[in-house]
Amino acid sequence: MFTMGIDIGSTACKCIILQDGNQIAARAIVPLGTGTNGPQNVFAEALAKLSLSRSDLSRILVTGYGRFTFDEADNQKSELSCHAKGISFLMPTARTIIDIGGQDIKALRVNARGMLENFVMNDKCAAGTGKFLDVMAGILNVKTEQLGEIAENAKDEVSISNTCTVFAESEVISKLSSNVRIEDLVAGIHRSVAKRVASLVFRNGIVPEVAMSGGVALNRGVVRALGQELKTEIKTHPDCQLVGALGAALFAYEEWNKTRLA
Ligand code: ADP
Repeated sequence: MFTMGIDIGSTACKCIILQDGNQIAARAIVPLGTGTNGPQNVFAEALAKLSLSRSDLSRILVTGYGRFTFDEADNQKSELSCHAKGISFLMPTARTIIDIGGQDIKALRVNARGMLENFVMNDKCAAGTGKFLDVMAGILNVKTEQLGEIAENAKDEVSISNTCTVFAESEVISKLSSNVRIEDLVAGIHRSVAKRVASLVFRNGIVPEVAMSGGVALNRGVVRALGQELKTEIKTHPDCQLVGALGAALFAYEEWNKTRLA
């Protein structure tokens, strides 16, 4: 039997189809957020990968910022619970999760049963988020996906003094015009994100092991800089951006099981 979890984020939609509650059968990521065709597209893409239709799915659970906007859903659940659930499936020894998405940062503490113990979130500001990195990549005329690799060749990291995205944008433009190496600038951008995120994570305390989820965890430059700021090893997983969708699919399975046994 199959259950589906969809994470409708601010920037991207993610989908997981789970087989028998314990095996990832299909994954899909569409770089469009809530209020777009992203939810429908990611839903269709995941079904197509297994040549399934809606009627083959026993239950669909939706999470994320846009979770109340998808009509096919059987239920919705908060991102925090779904992230805790998803991470404990992928990385059962993680106790602190740092999730950096398109527009927010969350630091979560989870127990050994994958249940959320507490969390902190950023205020409504793009600093330190995927949006900040996307804006900087735009100025540098590179893709966000390339930033991690570019920073590997940094020699003399450039310090970015403005945290605010708008001011940092002007600062990066002015540094670019003063012939700073792009690699050093990108390393400085990652440092700025890491410092911002670390200040939030410290508020919630760090219990090892520490794992990162969300799309920004795919940027190894940010992961490295954040590990240095927190003075701890940070674990990631190739499915880090799909953690919320995975958690939703796992909850969908639990709910289906309860209805079946009731
Ligand atoms: P949300 O759930 O808020 O929509 P995600 O967790 O999907 O956000 O993360 C989206 C962000 O992840 C993007 O803004 C982008 O900065 C970053 N991102 C996505 N894919 C990659 C990648 N391959 N490499 C580096 N960063 C990425």
